[in-house]
Amino acid sequence: LTQPLAGRVAVVTGASSGIGGAAAEHLAGLGARVAVLARRADRLAELVARIEKSGGTALALAADVTDPAAVRSAAGRVADELGTADLLLNNAGVMLPAPVEERAAEQWQHQIDLNVSGLMHVIGAFTPQLVRAAAERGVADLVNTSSVAAQNVFPNFAVYSGTKAYVTHLSRHLRVELGPKDVRVSAVEPGIVGTELQSHVTDEGARQWLEGTRETVEWLAPQDVAETVGFLAALPPRVNLQQVTIMPTRQT
Ligand code: NDP
Repeated sequence: LTQPLAGRVAVVTGASSGIGGAAAEHLAGLGARVAVLARRADRLAELVARIEKSGGTALALAADVTDPAAVRSAAGRVADELGTADLLLNNAGVMLPAPVEERAAEQWQHQIDLNVSGLMHVIGAFTPQLVRAAAERGVADLVNTSSVAAQNVFPNFAVYSGTKAYVTHLSRHLRVELGPKDVRVSAVEPGIVGTELQSHVTDEGARQWLEGTRETVEWLAPQDVAETVGFLAALPPRVNLQQVTIMPTRQT
């Protein structure tokens, strides 16, 4: 059994379900000690128990990423209890498509608060550890979960796509800033993945559009994205996959 991430300390946000949950288990399986962050403490406790049962090490951090003080305190606990973080999967997010004419201002704000501001609070809190870890161990990874919506155009996804275009472009800029310090920065852009993400959609038209894709497309599984994250983190330190778009084969 090879453990390419042995000795590494990973932090996964949005780890209580979907992509983040699968990634946390996968990274632990590759040998990383893993801090798992989300709001639902019960889900995190179950995840930590599963990882420990498989022989891994995990730390639950119940926190809301839109609360900068809570994120800072979580970052302190990672350094104290697991060691300096050298892999961050910045993944908590929400997708609430709806026609702009519905003027769902609360849903616009929610997506911006979580996908943009929350993502930034996490970057702000953990970047010092990533830079320190890279100086000590030769490499660290900042992986932001973006979306194919950052590149393609889908009806009624304007605000969500805008937040993900931000994530991809921010990542490109941060790579230039942090690469010279041996911190690799990547944007992972999945197409449609079967998770809890779709269950929060309230607009009936958008729900039907999403569900309709199931007739022609086999959606990705969270594990598919988890393995992509594990792959890029295990590359030699000189290799930085800047942007990875991972699509269901039949999604156009
Ligand atoms: P899920 O809804 O299954 O997961 C979202 C995660 O974010 C949950 O763990 C949730 O946990 C957490 N979260 C939500 N709000 C907060 C908050 N305020 N503070 C901390 N954690 C929070 O969806 P996915 O796994 O699909 O989504 C993960 C990422 O992947 C998102 O950024 C999404 O935009 C992106 N993505 C998903 C695609 C898909 O088709 N599924 C496609 C492309 C990108 P809790 O509620 O416990 O806080």
